[in-house]
Amino acid sequence: MKNISQGSGFMKTDEFREWGHTMVDWMADYLDDVGRYPVKSNNEPGATTAVLEKSPPRAPEPMEHIWRDFQDVILPGITHWQHPRFFAYFPANSSRPSVLAEMLTATLAAQCMSWETSPAATELETKMVEWLREMIGLPDRFVGSIQDTASTATLSAVLAARERATDGAANTEGLGGPNRRTVYCSAEAHSSVDKAVRIAGIGSDNLRKIPVTEDLAMDADLLRLEIERDIENGSVPICVVGTLGTTGASGFDSLKEVGAVCRDFGVWFHVDAAWAGSALVLEEYRWMIEGIDAVDSFVFNPHKWLFTNFDCSVLYVKNEMEYLRTFALTPEYLKTRRDDAVINYRDYGIQLGRRFRALKLWFVLRRFGVDEIKRKIGDHIEWSHRVAAEISFHKDFEVLRAPVLSLFCFRFKPEGSSEAQLDGLNERLLHAVNDSGDLYVTHTRYNGHYAIRFVVGQTETTEADVVRGWDRIREIASNLA
Ligand code: PLP
Repeated sequence: MKNISQGSGFMKTDEFREWGHTMVDWMADYLDDVGRYPVKSNNEPGATTAVLEKSPPRAPEPMEHIWRDFQDVILPGITHWQHPRFFAYFPANSSRPSVLAEMLTATLAAQCMSWETSPAATELETKMVEWLREMIGLPDRFVGSIQDTASTATLSAVLAARERATDGAANTEGLGGPNRRTVYCSAEAHSSVDKAVRIAGIGSDNLRKIPVTEDLAMDADLLRLEIERDIENGSVPICVVGTLGTTGASGFDSLKEVGAVCRDFGVWFHVDAAWAGSALVLEEYRWMIEGIDAVDSFVFNPHKWLFTNFDCSVLYVKNEMEYLRTFALTPEYLKTRRDDAVINYRDYGIQLGRRFRALKLWFVLRRFGVDEIKRKIGDHIEWSHRVAAEISFHKDFEVLRAPVLSLFCFRFKPEGSSEAQLDGLNERLLHAVNDSGDLYVTHTRYNGHYAIRFVVGQTETTEADVVRGWDRIREIASNLA
């Protein structure tokens, strides 16, 4: 067989260099110009599939063709998450230093499961989770590791809680026995908790969704009652998942109140701060972690609001040894000479193989510096408050949930409209706004009402983008009415 690689891989060095330059130029232009793309892809389902070849090519294809198809086939089906008027979901923001580091990570393609498989990756990860811990004000005794997503981190916490509750028996004997194990979260918690209890063998029937107060916080009194009732009925409560910054409308569970209940019953307390955790860099938001002493594990996503591209989630645990008992496993072929003296991050979660994610954090935190990160997140919060205030003054709009950080919810409520019309009207408004390509927002239900969510958090968003987003919503709404 002809050796097409000629000793330098499927692509020769010169071609790699040339296309690398072409693509970095494209990337630089893209990040400059991303605001000119329609934010959300308007592809119909199947549009990309229809133009993809049915089978892989037998022969090598020239890069020119692949590159052309990237632009013609892939880009139209991309929603531009880095667009400055992406106000949907929660942000998954990135930044130029983060992208550069990811290029290096991809080039090194190191598999960082053990210290020995890349000592610098392990030691940098340790330092980065320490830096982040200091930045967000978590106590020193929390030990961190980088995970892919908050969903994985929450599953890991539930698994560790399961081991605590069964004194390690779930790992060895399986989750048998006559007693149900129960997990608790608020009715506003993220669906990753539902997924975690399914996968962990707890069962979704044993997940208790505790009602929230008017302010969207888990009602700690009802949590206590529910736990007492479960114990009376022979169940074993194993874990409570609290949330800082719920996804729908940004509620905050009180770590103090929920933590007190967890302490009384010896239940693992996991905190999901996937989005809101980044705001802890600002000292004025540290009220969120009042009561952190009662917390066993805490996750937040630098890939949401800390300018570090997806994926990068950090899980902190208070009792490292207890946590490791769930995951640590060393088959013969993974043993190394240094196992006694080093950290092997494969023992800190579900996956064995690990990407070198610490590098992008290192680039981002050094290139931005903590002060700039604080300034940017502070701006997002301030602009969100300002635009929400403007919306609240408008006679045809109603702010349903005011921002605590940078998420708020509102609806269009033109004079003379009846309550029965409003859900449909707002749904039409949302689609019309998103179809315009000028901005992207998503929705939730708030007190039973269809509500439009607006989240400020993109790296290149300016106050003018926020104002322009609101201007477009107003214009489009007035045409609809
Ligand atoms: N928790 C909360 C509060 C979220 O809002 C989200 C996603 O938006 C998640 C968890 C899941 O995050 P990930 O995509 O990192 O699993």
